[in-house]
Amino acid sequence: MTTGKDKSGFYFGVTCPACGGELELEKNFFTLTCVHCGSVLRIRMPDMPPAYLVKSKLTTREVRFGIDRYLKKNSLPLTGPDLAIKNLYYPYWKIEALMLRVRNKVYERVLQEETEYQDWAAVQTAKTEIGITPYLMTVAAGSFFDGIPDSIGLRSEYVRMIPFAKENIQDGFDSLPITRPYDEVWATVVSSVMTVGDIDQADFGSNLTELFHPEYELIYFPYALVESYSDRGFNRFIVDGISGRVVEYLTQLTLDEDAEYAEIPPLEFGRLEVEYHRCYNCGMDLPDRRSIVYICENCQVLNIIDKTGVDIGELALVDCESGPADVLLPFWSFKIPDNLLPKLGQLFGGIRRSDRLVVPAFSVVNYEAAYRLSKRMSAAAPQLNLVPTETYDRRFRPVNRCLEDALALADIIIYRAQLERLSTFHCNIEKFEFHPSEVSLFYTPFHPENYFYVDSALNAITFEKNLVEQKV
Ligand SMILES: [Zn+2]
Ligand SMILES: [Zn+2]
Repeated sequence: MTTGKDKSGFYFGVTCPACGGELELEKNFFTLTCVHCGSVLRIRMPDMPPAYLVKSKLTTREVRFGIDRYLKKNSLPLTGPDLAIKNLYYPYWKIEALMLRVRNKVYERVLQEETEYQDWAAVQTAKTEIGITPYLMTVAAGSFFDGIPDSIGLRSEYVRMIPFAKENIQDGFDSLPITRPYDEVWATVVSSVMTVGDIDQADFGSNLTELFHPEYELIYFPYALVESYSDRGFNRFIVDGISGRVVEYLTQLTLDEDAEYAEIPPLEFGRLEVEYHRCYNCGMDLPDRRSIVYICENCQVLNIIDKTGVDIGELALVDCESGPADVLLPFWSFKIPDNLLPKLGQLFGGIRRSDRLVVPAFSVVNYEAAYRLSKRMSAAAPQLNLVPTETYDRRFRPVNRCLEDALALADIIIYRAQLERLSTFHCNIEKFEFHPSEVSLFYTPFHPENYFYVDSALNAITFEKNLVEQKV
């Protein structure tokens, strides 16, 4: 390690293409400046799930120590010298998705009548709560192995990782094969999530839990497998390769008889690539901020870093007066195809019948608020007069929701809007895969007013200030 600085959060190392120096990345990186040679670089995420490795830092002594501490705490005799220690990496899928929940609840409030002190009245209110939240889980990707946990929980968020590669596997470690493909794991996750929805009983109607837009990564996590035969018979300890804690102690093994060890072909993994973050037109370094859209400060040419290759034309700006305190927020504007217009126009069109679904192109911290903003922006779209963006200053917020993610968000927003309508009217809910007939990107000025941002064109669209991530 070159910096010696302890980083929290997701981390892994890559190599600078210019000088070969080692670089450290943290979560939500996109661009970085090489600390060795000053090159501005960006990361290209692979299309396939990337695979990472968490290195164990435990020595054999520390493994023994962890076991003895565990035995002492549980008033068991300490281990003898005959311990067989085997180090291994066990694979987990890490799945990130968006979760949509509908909960029908009846709230009771007891009210005291104003004049009659003895009179109490219970008032019941039926309420349908709909919410969109990020969802994260890790699930075993290898065969059943008695004692190894089925999940590594939240640790997947803060352990240090490096790309999984043969040369990165430590001496004396074996990596176990992946026997569960991610689509199979996803099906299990979806059904377990639905079960949770069933347990949480609805007071009326029915509750609903749906997952959208899964993204996969593979993490190899280290364990020490320690076995011995003592006076008490067989002992197996599974020691967490990071904390040194005994996660499981078994004196008898269960064989998973139901398990079918289907031969699955070796999986291919995506590799993260590091490339120069430069203007494609003039070759100058682009600004080191996390965005997929840049206007080159040198030649003023628009650079869009997007995998989809969809033509989004020119950047547009809502034509209105904007002050120095305004923030210019980017939105994806999706033209609704004619065949979907009757249905989606009803959900998003407002009274003027907009033909656009407008989705935030900046990252948000609250998906419910993003949904409401999306509805308002879509309905207001016909009233917004767009002009080409001519200058580009610091008030323009970065576009850090790529087109792919914005389309996934559109799917969930459409579903969410149908649910909302369902609570008033009876209609069928369809799960859409939305394909807009045209895609564009525009900026709208918003100005701060107390706890809110208000749009500077219509003075009508508001959202809470804390929706926007402060860190740019
Ligand atoms: Zn470098
Ligand atoms: Zn340029």
